[in-house]
Amino acid sequence: MNVPEYIAGLKPYVPGKPIEELEREYGISDSIKLASNENPIGPSPKAVDAIKGALMNLHRYPDGNNYQLGERLADKLQVATNQIVLGNGSNEIIELLVRTFIQKGDEVIMPAPSFLMYEIMVQAGGGASVKVPLKDLTVDLEAMAKCITGRTRMVFVNNPNNPTGTIVSRDAFEWFLKQIPSEVILVVDEAYIEFVRDKRCPIGLDYLDSDKMVVTLRTFSKAYGLAGLRIGYGVMRQGLADLIHRVRQPFNTNALAQVGALAALEDDAFFNETIRTVHEGLDFLYDRVSSIGLRYFPTQTNFFLIDVDRDSQGVFEKMLTRGVIIRAMTAYGYPSFIRVNVGLAEENERFVKALGEVVGIG
Ligand SMILES: *Cc1c(COP(=O)(O)O)cnc(C)c1O
Repeated sequence: MNVPEYIAGLKPYVPGKPIEELEREYGISDSIKLASNENPIGPSPKAVDAIKGALMNLHRYPDGNNYQLGERLADKLQVATNQIVLGNGSNEIIELLVRTFIQKGDEVIMPAPSFLMYEIMVQAGGGASVKVPLKDLTVDLEAMAKCITGRTRMVFVNNPNNPTGTIVSRDAFEWFLKQIPSEVILVVDEAYIEFVRDKRCPIGLDYLDSDKMVVTLRTFSKAYGLAGLRIGYGVMRQGLADLIHRVRQPFNTNALAQVGALAALEDDAFFNETIRTVHEGLDFLYDRVSSIGLRYFPTQTNFFLIDVDRDSQGVFEKMLTRGVIIRAMTAYGYPSFIRVNVGLAEENERFVKALGEVVGIG
């Protein structure tokens, strides 16, 4: 078949192992998944109610302009509605950014390791990824600035960065912004921004009106507990948003996602409980992982890295037999690291117990 080489060469994204698949393969039940950075407490109950209330309208197309959700978000974020583009997860916004602005041969600078979708989308769009290694597990903005050339069209900064959980400081970010040419788009992916405790963390939205093209990505998949619904958005200057609106499908966010996201924005009790659960869970996990004698790396997100000091793929498999799904970081270039996200208190306990058994302590 005649497909472009860059399409034939795409490596499929490997998602966290679904619970159903593990239980089918191992003939076990009661397993837990701490592998996809999902919200431990479930979906927002207000979102669930709103979705139930919308079911009888499923014969209708959704509002392609996303009027209600757009207005609510614009008000909350203090931006104009025409600066927001909603998508089928923020993943779709990544795809749309590449499809709209990247032509064959254009260069896109990104940290590595980071979210694998950047590289996949850029390759699928015929662009060239310039991958810049992290420094001390942190996005190395100085090294990224050195990679800017006349062919650079876009730069991704994942803040905090997945899979390392680290942030760049406001000072480093503002220095970097000065190095960005005015015709280059800087995409700041803030999928985990709600979990950040470090006050030095910059917020992409603060630079929306700067003289540089800063696009901020946010999602309802993590702190709002709606990963299965698929909804996220980008905030950018109107000129960029207008172009993406021409490229996107007219009904790219579905009717249930629109009402669910709108209701989740009003669910302060759920949001606060999520943040509390994640922060308490992290502090518990840090303590227990140290007790096992393993090194961990503090995070600003709902997941963190642990150096298991041995082949992480082996640890991953042994954890599976105990019904605990985590991620081995081999494919991300850290063969002795695992990534785990915070679960409910009882899930965290189970993870720690299983990990202790697997590494021979506990
Ligand atoms: C989870 C995650 C997202 C969210 O993607 P959705 O498509 O909104 O579910 C985006 N970026 C990063 C880095 C993530 O880890």
